[in-house]
Amino acid sequence: MDEIDRFGFAISDETRALRAAMMRFGETRLLPGAAERDATKAFPAALIDELAALGAMAMKAAPEDDGPGVDNMGYALAIEAIARCDASVAVVMVASNLAAAILARHATEDQRRRFVRPAARGEIGALSFALTEPGAGSDAAAIRTTARRGDGGWVLNGTKQWITGAANARLFTVFARMPDLGEAAFGCFVVEAGTDGFSLGRVEDKMGLRSSGTAMLHMEDVHLPEANLIGEAGQGLRIALGAIAPSRIAIAAQSIGIAERAFHLGRTYAQERHAFGQPVAAFQNARFVLADARTSLDQAWLLMLRGAALLDRGMAIRGEASMAKLAASETCGRVVDAMLQLHGGNGYSREYEIERLYRDARVMRIYEGTSEVQREVIARDVLGV
Ligand SMILES: Cc1cc2nc3c(=O)[nH]c(=O)nc-3n(C[C@H](O)[C@H](O)[C@H](O)COP(=O)(O)OP(=O)(O)OC[C@H]3O[C@@H](n4cnc5c(N)ncnc54)[C@H](O)[C@@H]3O)c2cc1C
Repeated sequence: MDEIDRFGFAISDETRALRAAMMRFGETRLLPGAAERDATKAFPAALIDELAALGAMAMKAAPEDDGPGVDNMGYALAIEAIARCDASVAVVMVASNLAAAILARHATEDQRRRFVRPAARGEIGALSFALTEPGAGSDAAAIRTTARRGDGGWVLNGTKQWITGAANARLFTVFARMPDLGEAAFGCFVVEAGTDGFSLGRVEDKMGLRSSGTAMLHMEDVHLPEANLIGEAGQGLRIALGAIAPSRIAIAAQSIGIAERAFHLGRTYAQERHAFGQPVAAFQNARFVLADARTSLDQAWLLMLRGAALLDRGMAIRGEASMAKLAASETCGRVVDAMLQLHGGNGYSREYEIERLYRDARVMRIYEGTSEVQREVIARDVLGV
């Protein structure tokens, strides 16, 4: 029995094959260099291009857009498989797929030809999603970047922060206020790297996910033609938030991938390490720690799979996506911590993989909506407000 069958969800042969391919890629191509990239902060550009060529940077793009047309279940399982081996690569995939999903959903025929199809064919590597700014994260409506009318198109000014993959991306979805259209009007734009006035800022020196190329972006009088506006003028924030909700299933998957790897490492270590004349795994405490970790991991899996299945049925989920993200990210933090504890002092050494997982895990509770923001979303559903 495939380990995924324990959950009782119907998984197609196509999805199983995709999951197996991603597991293989992770184990053979990503895992061997993950510690080195963590140490050097090197962005895995060639590996990202390889994944892009497999369709992994725009997985849900439809076959008529030259994409693999993967469903939400397949996408979640692919992210989980990659995150087991390199969570930095997994987050670059999530950000790219988020940007690509926005383009695929809202692009005109001309934009499909220029952006969606090349992305789906893997010709432009990973895309970036640029919403957050130094003064606006959870409160996305507080962004200050502006897009004003000019030269028959739009002129962008502002700064973005914490943009995954930005250090290497060639295509960005950028969100800005549209003061010409009113206080509550926002726009979504597609910006190509190298556009005049659009420059890369500081690459963040992060605690974890160190090779994901997270950077600032500066925009100084960036002139864009009307043809680079995605969707309706004024609807940019709605476009961003509408895409982030389903993407939370992918962050749940990433969290589960990290926690699964940690669980594997913790269990193996406890079986091999001896203390007081017996394997650590023989102590009742270690057995209970492993039992609790397995139980909470399975709970997180079930919420994640439920979210993916509901999305595949065409349901617009909100609270269910937040529950999946909240449960998986909090579980990830607890499981990685418990598995590090089973490693004793060695868990605190950079020589052991669990130390990297501990640092990578922390941001799961922060990005794509903090745990507090997820609770707010769930509470709104619970209270019907
Ligand atoms: C590694 C990394 C990668 C990222 N990648 C991207 C990316 O690719 N694109 C992008 O646009 N952004 C990205 N982000 C930004 C990320 O989404 C934000 O950091 C996150 O949404 C939190 O926003 P903030 O950092 O401004 O924190 P703040 O919003 O300032 O939050 C500070 C604290 O206040 C709490 N808080 C805020 N509002 C509420 C509330 N209503 N109720 C209760 N508590 C509240 C928060 O939970 C948190 O504890 C990334 C961030 C990191 C760290």
